[in-house]
Amino acid sequence: MLEVRDLSAFYGASQALFGVDLSVEEGEVVALAGRNGMGKTTTIRAVCGLVAARAESLRFADRDISGMASFRIARLGIGLVPEGRRCFRALSVRENLLVAARKGPWTLERVEALFPRLAERRDQSAGLLSGGEQQMVAIGRALMTNPRLLVLDEATEGLAPLIRQEIWSAIKALKSERLSIVVVDKSLAELLPVADRCTVLSNGRTVWTGRPADLDRSLQERFLGL
Ligand code: ATP
Repeated sequence: MLEVRDLSAFYGASQALFGVDLSVEEGEVVALAGRNGMGKTTTIRAVCGLVAARAESLRFADRDISGMASFRIARLGIGLVPEGRRCFRALSVRENLLVAARKGPWTLERVEALFPRLAERRDQSAGLLSGGEQQMVAIGRALMTNPRLLVLDEATEGLAPLIRQEIWSAIKALKSERLSIVVVDKSLAELLPVADRCTVLSNGRTVWTGRPADLDRSLQERFLGL
């Protein structure tokens, strides 16, 4: 469903990616891993049309998305949960979810069933929520767009242990429904068990991809700093 081959990306004149390969099959959960600054966020931003990019192949849902405007890519079905869980702080939880809504199986009711805390906090301003609850709103918003591919950058960064578990449970629930997912997270111990496949970046390049179980110690030491 997503095919990225030999992706380069640029911030103005400075090149940040030099050859990223990343693919996601229907119903697959792919972990995107690598140490800080290796290009995970930039890869995600390039796929979403948020940073200038060039690739041998950049395809989503059988369409060439290279150079496509980010809103069009979103409309094709990539739902992004960006780093730093941005939501509209002045809007209520429910308003945050409803402004993102597009036709499909994901509705307010289903998002509230996935995250019961959001149902409890429905009328509260998002700005008053805890970080974990704001992340639930951010994930809920992405789901409300009814994406075919959900992309989570730093799914649980900075969140308390209990709420991290709630986020991972939700991701597992989405996986069991066969939603395709790309996920970045600093906690490999939590990330890898959820993933069907892991793609490892180093210095703006894909250096390894395979099943998490095959990510041996030497790879982990070399590329993930473990
Ligand atoms: P982290 O986990 O720290 O977010 P990352 O793997 O997501 O790291 P990126 O944020 O994609 O890495 O950064 C990849 C490279 O691009 C780094 O060398 C970084 O310095 C550079 N970079 C990131 N954002 C910008 C920017 N806005 N302008 C210029 N260079 C940038």
